Amino acid sequence: MIVIDGKKTAQDIRAELAAEVSAATAAGRRAPGLAVILVGEDPASQVYVRNKEKGCAEAGIASFAYRLPADTKQQDLLQLIEECNSRPDVDGILLQLPLPKGLDAQACLLAIDPAKDVDGFHPENVGRLSLGLPGFVSCTPAGVMELLRRYNLSTRGKKAVVVGRSDIVGKPLALLLTRSGEFGDATVTICHSRTPDLAAECRSADFLFLAIGRPRLITGDMVRQGAVVIDVGINRTSDGLCGDADYESVSAKASAITPVPGGVGPMTIAMLLMNTVQSWRQRTA
Ligand code: NDP
Repeated sequence: MIVIDGKKTAQDIRAELAAEVSAATAAGRRAPGLAVILVGEDPASQVYVRNKEKGCAEAGIASFAYRLPADTKQQDLLQLIEECNSRPDVDGILLQLPLPKGLDAQACLLAIDPAKDVDGFHPENVGRLSLGLPGFVSCTPAGVMELLRRYNLSTRGKKAVVVGRSDIVGKPLALLLTRSGEFGDATVTICHSRTPDLAAECRSADFLFLAIGRPRLITGDMVRQGAVVIDVGINRTSDGLCGDADYESVSAKASAITPVPGGVGPMTIAMLLMNTVQSWRQRTA
């Protein structure tokens, strides 16, 4: 049984990006830049933003932090986004969600230049994903696909079940798995809270992707012998962090599994950095 080490994979990616950026800047190219916009005082968002800034610093990416008060007006936020859109040293724009009450997140995401939308939330990038065109892919599903690639777990011709249909994880992941290629070409079923027999659907999966947000909902009896289980869930319980899979019973059946923490989680920021570097490559080429 393979335990998929997302922490190590994310470190490898960060080291690769750092090497590429430092070689380019030594040759006189400007460093990649990421604008990070945080509105309000949400403690979880502050931690995420700090980690993203730290990740940028380690990879040699310049981060431009904009910390705005919770009573910021929509117009002022839109103006800041416009400013970031036109700054030549900004390759990516990250608007930390959720926004405080009174601000329209959808309108703000729409205002971000799709070519700088490194979170992959802009409808243009979502549309590109669905059409199979190049564009930015939401970081968590992109991180899942990168883990499959780096562990050489091909989904071609396999039965994949994605539990969860959110816009940021389940849906884009299902689209990525149906794209053509060795790490695509799967026959995909999407499950959600109205799926009548979740256990039977899960048992049919060669590849089982969990993005539910329910601690240990998926148990070993719901998993086919030898399945690959990718657990995106991050749940806080009284005995610490856990995934959507009951790790003990599921890992006894799986041929490969991501632990929580240390599986998909660390990949998200690595993919944000990768998207930023990709944008920078395109605009400095
Ligand atoms: P959402 O709450 O947006 O979506 C959860 C999905 O799970 C919904 O589609 C919901 O169905 C479905 N669901 C809920 N309960 C059940 C059930 N009992 N049976 C079947 N389906 C069910 O969550 P997200 O997609 O944003 O996140 C999912 C998990 O992934 C969370 O634990 C989150 O913390 C984690 N996460 C981790 C990230 C990382 O690793 N960096 C990044 C993003 C998320 P319905 O649509 O019918 O309500």
